[in-house]
Amino acid sequence: MIEANNPTLSSWLEVPTGHDFQIQNLPFGIFSTSELSPRPGIALGNHVIHLSALFSSGYLSNLPYDESDFSSDTLNPIINKGKSPSRELRARISALFRSDASELRDSVSDHSGCIIDMSTVTMHMPVQVGDYTDCYSSEDHARNVGKMFRDPENALLPNWKHMPVAYHGRASSIVVSGTPIRRPHGQLKPSETEPPIYGPSRLLDFELEMAFVTHPGKPLGTPISTSEADDYIFGLVLFNDWSARDIQKWEYIPLGPFLGKNFASSISPWIVTLDALQPYRVPGPVQNPKVLPYLEYEGDSHYDMNLEVEITTPAGDSKIVCRSNFKHMYWNMRQQLAHHTVNGCNIRGGDMIASGTISGPEEGSFGSMLEISWKGTKPVPMPDGTERRFINDGDTVKMRGSNGTIGFGEVSGKLLPAL
Ligand code: CA
Repeated sequence: MIEANNPTLSSWLEVPTGHDFQIQNLPFGIFSTSELSPRPGIALGNHVIHLSALFSSGYLSNLPYDESDFSSDTLNPIINKGKSPSRELRARISALFRSDASELRDSVSDHSGCIIDMSTVTMHMPVQVGDYTDCYSSEDHARNVGKMFRDPENALLPNWKHMPVAYHGRASSIVVSGTPIRRPHGQLKPSETEPPIYGPSRLLDFELEMAFVTHPGKPLGTPISTSEADDYIFGLVLFNDWSARDIQKWEYIPLGPFLGKNFASSISPWIVTLDALQPYRVPGPVQNPKVLPYLEYEGDSHYDMNLEVEITTPAGDSKIVCRSNFKHMYWNMRQQLAHHTVNGCNIRGGDMIASGTISGPEEGSFGSMLEISWKGTKPVPMPDGTERRFINDGDTVKMRGSNGTIGFGEVSGKLLPAL
C-alpha cells in the first residue's frame, strides 16, 4: 500500500467527514488569490496547501523540484518531472499534515502563508493541455447510440470490441469548471429532405466523462504497454464533453467529430492522482471476444467512482439527471494508453485522454441527454414544471465524482445563449 493512502490517517487540519479532499486524496490544482498569482496547490478539506510557500520555508527540500516548479501557472513542470517525484511530493505533503506530525503544525508562523482558505481562491486550468484525445469506451453508451442511430440488433460497430475507439480532439477549448459555455453556431440539417441551414445548435448536450492527464511518455516510435501505462498517468479529472448533436450528426461522416465537439469541454480543477485512486480498483467486464495481446492486461484496472450530473434551471431549480460510475467502462485507461501508443504515437506531459461518455446499464445511469431523453422522445420533467430534451440557455450543468471516501469535487458550466 502507498502510505499516503493509509485509511487510518487523519490530519491536524480540520477536514469535514465525507469531504472529497481527505488526507488520503491530496489532489493537485492551480489557484490564485487576490494577492497571489496562479500557482500550484494541493487540496486538503476546505484548505489549499500553498506549495511555493512550503518550499520557501524549507519544508519541500530534498525533493527533485525547484522554486520555478512551484511558481508556475500550470502543473506541467511538476507533471513533467515524472511519476516518481510527484509521488514523493504527495507523500511529503501527507507526512507534513498527518495528525501526529508536529513539524509544520507547531510552527505557527509558517502556517499563515502555507495554508489558504479554499473559499478565498480562484481555480484555474490545472495544466496546459498539449494534445487531447476522446475515447468511446463505455459499452452501454456505444450501444445506446448505435440503437438510436443505426441498427437496434447490431448496435455496436464491428471494430468496437476489438479496440478502444477514439478520435483526436481540440485542446485549446478545454476550460476549467465555472467557465460559461456559449451555445455554438454551425451547419444543421433539420430533416433528411431539407437542405442544411446555418444557425445556433438546437440540440446542445453534455457528456459525462473522466479524463486522465499524462506524464511525458516514451520517444516517438515506442509504444507503452498496458503493464507500463500507470507510470505515465499522473491523475484524473471530471470531464464534460459539451456536444452539439445537430452539428455532429450532419458533419461527422466520414471523418468523425469536429465542430459539434470542439467548441468547449469543461474539467474539474483538482487533478486526483492515480496513486490516490489505487485503493478503489475493481475488476472490469469480461472482454469477449478476447482482445489482441497488446490490449491484454493484468489485475484490477477499473475504478469505483460514483458520478452524477445535475441540471440547474435559470430559476435555480436543480435535478440530478444521471447517476453512473466510472467502473462501467468496457475499455480501461491501461488499454486506452496502450492502444494510443501502439503505433509509436508519443504522448507528452499534460496530454489529456478522456474516457468517452460513461453510461451505466440502466435508465437513470445514462451519461448524456441524448440517451436520457432517448433522442428527445422522452423529455425529462424538471422541478419547475419545464421539460428538458437537451440543455436550455441559462441552464447550469454540474458533474460530481465521489466514492464516499475520496472524490473529485465538481465541474460546473453554465450555457449562455448563442451570440
Ligand atoms: Ca465525448
